Amino acid sequence: MTSLFIDAGFDSGNIDVLGIEGATARLAIRRDNESEFFQWFHFRVAAPAGEEVVLKLTGLNASAYPGGWPDYDACVSEDRAYWARATSSFDKDEDGGTLTVRYAPSAGVFWCAYFAPFSMERHHDLIAETASCEGVDYVRLGTTIDGQPIDCLELGDGDTQVWLYARQHPGETQAEWWMEGAIECLTDPADPVARALRKACRIHIVPNCNPDGSRRGHLRTNAVGTNLNREWADPTPERSPEVLAILGRMDQTGVDFAMDVHADEAIPAVFIAGFDGIPSWTQEQGAGYDRYQRILDRRTPDFQTKLGYPKAAPGRANLSMSTNQLAERFGAVAMTLEMPYKDLADFPEPEQGWSPERCKLLGRECMAALVEWLEGRDA
Ligand code: ZN
Repeated sequence: MTSLFIDAGFDSGNIDVLGIEGATARLAIRRDNESEFFQWFHFRVAAPAGEEVVLKLTGLNASAYPGGWPDYDACVSEDRAYWARATSSFDKDEDGGTLTVRYAPSAGVFWCAYFAPFSMERHHDLIAETASCEGVDYVRLGTTIDGQPIDCLELGDGDTQVWLYARQHPGETQAEWWMEGAIECLTDPADPVARALRKACRIHIVPNCNPDGSRRGHLRTNAVGTNLNREWADPTPERSPEVLAILGRMDQTGVDFAMDVHADEAIPAVFIAGFDGIPSWTQEQGAGYDRYQRILDRRTPDFQTKLGYPKAAPGRANLSMSTNQLAERFGAVAMTLEMPYKDLADFPEPEQGWSPERCKLLGRECMAALVEWLEGRDA
């Protein structure tokens, strides 16, 4: 009789059990609905306390980003608040590519995930808490295909239109942890960074662009398998109502500065990507991007500029991606922020790796960098 049980029937749960033998479970990650993408996993393990469990996630050579598995340690938690890392190893030749996770729980149950989950319940708590803060306006932008609201929070009395939006890719939970940090900063009545930004800007925040993918436990797509960050040139009510709703509000307010918050499976670093190659690119717009990057690089050792994505050649930008679309459509200084699933290669913290705590601190730091950026713009 087995004493090892795996469950995933909950918010953002994602795993299939292929077989259990003794203290070893063979597992497979489910694909996003109507899509080939898979990489996000989140499940619960019941096993005897104090004994090592071996979890084998198989078939990973076919996952969205096979480069994400080498040098990656799975996230584990026994209280669902503190997430540590469990020693993991990847073998591309075992069972179609297998990540082996070993963990000895101190209690009879623990949770395992690709990164610390950010549940829809926690999302609603964040919306409720923020909407009740002085000076914050709640705006319901629209409805998803599964019937969930697309939430926006707006604050500030200035003319500069700032847009912060996250989790177009729902398995990138780092992005909503970042939002929690940025929002805690922005809604603190005493915080000097928040006071400066609320004076200079109108700030529009969409903490979760893809609630359906989030609840379904998807990596990259919404309820019908659409990658929302390839829909910004031509969103439709059938495939991408989320983008249609957010872009509709942006057309009303305008956009001067935009940050689209993501995470990258393979690259062990925090970096930003800009809008090189848009048809209307100007030296001044490009300089605004470079200046923000320099400010953030100076402010925090968690950010760097050596690792990142290659730049698009002139005229070759993909305008279906939000950063390029907003830079082209509004002349905005727009950027995609990427955080790792792995730890930072040049600044590791072995017990937790990249963590919710570090995402939140980065959110604050990005707001402080924005204050400096606005001051420099006026100088
Ligand atoms: Zn992404």
